[in-house]
Amino acid sequence: MSKKVTIIGSGFSGLSAACYLAKQGCEVTILEKHDSVGGRARQFTSDGFTYDMGPSWYWMPDIFDKFFADFGKKVSDYYVIERLTPSYRIIYKDGPLDIPSNIDELYLMFENIETGSAAKLKKFLKEAEYKYNIGMHDLVYKPGLSLTEFLNMRFFRGIFKLDVFNSIASHIRKSFTNPKLIQLLEFPVLFLGALPKNTPALYSLMNYSDMIGGTWYPKGGMISVVNGMHKLALELGVKFELNVDVNKINIIENKAIEVVSKNKNANFDVLVSSADYNFTEQKLLDKKYRNYSANYWETRKLAPSSLIFYIGVNKKLPNLLHHTLFFDEDFDLHSHEIYTDPKWPTNPLIYLSCTSQTDNNVAPEGCENLMVLIPIAPNLKDDKATNDKYFDMVISRIEKQIGVSFKDNISFRRDFATSDFIKDYNSFKGNAYGLANTLSQTAIFKPKLINKKISNLFYTGQLTVPGPGVPPCLISGELVAQQVVKYFNKK
Ligand SMILES: Cc1cc2nc3c(=O)[nH]c(=O)nc-3n(C[C@H](O)[C@H](O)[C@H](O)COP(=O)(O)OP(=O)(O)OC[C@H]3O[C@@H](n4cnc5c(N)ncnc54)[C@H](O)[C@@H]3O)c2cc1C
Repeated sequence: MSKKVTIIGSGFSGLSAACYLAKQGCEVTILEKHDSVGGRARQFTSDGFTYDMGPSWYWMPDIFDKFFADFGKKVSDYYVIERLTPSYRIIYKDGPLDIPSNIDELYLMFENIETGSAAKLKKFLKEAEYKYNIGMHDLVYKPGLSLTEFLNMRFFRGIFKLDVFNSIASHIRKSFTNPKLIQLLEFPVLFLGALPKNTPALYSLMNYSDMIGGTWYPKGGMISVVNGMHKLALELGVKFELNVDVNKINIIENKAIEVVSKNKNANFDVLVSSADYNFTEQKLLDKKYRNYSANYWETRKLAPSSLIFYIGVNKKLPNLLHHTLFFDEDFDLHSHEIYTDPKWPTNPLIYLSCTSQTDNNVAPEGCENLMVLIPIAPNLKDDKATNDKYFDMVISRIEKQIGVSFKDNISFRRDFATSDFIKDYNSFKGNAYGLANTLSQTAIFKPKLINKKISNLFYTGQLTVPGPGVPPCLISGELVAQQVVKYFNKK
């Protein structure tokens, strides 16, 4: 029987699905609108500076290990990772704090900031370890199609230990009172998805992943992971067709039979879309075939969008690490302006990635490549004047905090804003990381992997299970591949 599968999109979820399906003997072709693979994790080089366009934090290395092991391979067969130490720097209102990668040094750091907090952190991380083990090894590997998937699971038995019904904000405050420690523990959920008070305490598994799992750097940048997966896919026989921008899915008798683009029409037995879920349904499918209405999407809570500046500086900068978080402005106000009262932030928190601090190959000698990211509410209108205002603001802030001026040493700048997320990735309201991680948008409450009306149409990626982030997208590709295999087996 023919098992021809077409996948729209070559981000992490599309690459992952392609590898798993090719391993199952499917004839897989990926159609990608861009001229290179990787989606949000593409890389570009200009004026001698190299930038990962999206993800930069390599967390949960065990998930990457498992992915490659599923194909009888090791991560080190494709790329090299090194643990960053210190993990990252946070610049608070009263100065910088380096977050040690060594756990004993981290306990000491906590104790120095708040007496008694080291023991509390130990207990907090023990609980987080339990959540990580159940969350990342059981919960996220469920397709989220029905509640029955969870009935016999450790998850269901240990639901109270998993803290699904408490918020992470109150969970953290039960153990810690110092605002710096609270911010340190809250930032992973805040940056990736929702207000800590609306995020289940289950997500303290992110703290386990940060503090125990560690922050790693794939040499060459996150693109090395993309390249590794691309290479594996090619080895498994996956075909890639770049510069193919799909603009219609044709259906006959409740079966997807063809995708249409300007320069290519393709036929298949099964279609998997790893493009933005909302876009696939609302723009590529006729209304009667959609899983969800426009109103459904309007009522979803989205994770933030971002305003990003890729900057080349023709001198070395002191007092920066590979990852630096600027929490020198009001945390609550910025959170409020992202999630509660969406508007351009008054004085945003900033994330700065400078991979040239650890990698000599990403900037000309004596220079730095900066990627500055401001999390913002989705769907804000951006324009050059707004970008310029924030550019000036963040450069001044960084100059002040590191004690060096470099505005006149900027030799390269590229901006990437909400409108670019929409243009480049067909992203719903310009979201950068999909849906917010709230309880009502977790697991079975996420948009489903399968189309309920068209039996051979499937979805994968950050808007479906298990959610946003590179490791979840690897898992999403595996989950959708299992559903496709089930479909073929039923025939
Ligand atoms: C700025 C930023 C920073 C991030 N930081 C981190 C981080 O540090 N760590 C982490 O783990 N995660 C991070 N994330 C999240 C993570 O990058 C994403 O969740 C993940 O890469 C999404 O993968 P995906 O396959 O779902 O989607 P995408 O990467 O968007 O892939 C979808 C693909 O579909 C293609 N496509 C879309 N429409 C069409 C069409 N009509 N025809 C053909 N092709 C089409 C797109 O071009 C794209 O290649 C970050 C994301 C962003 C944006």
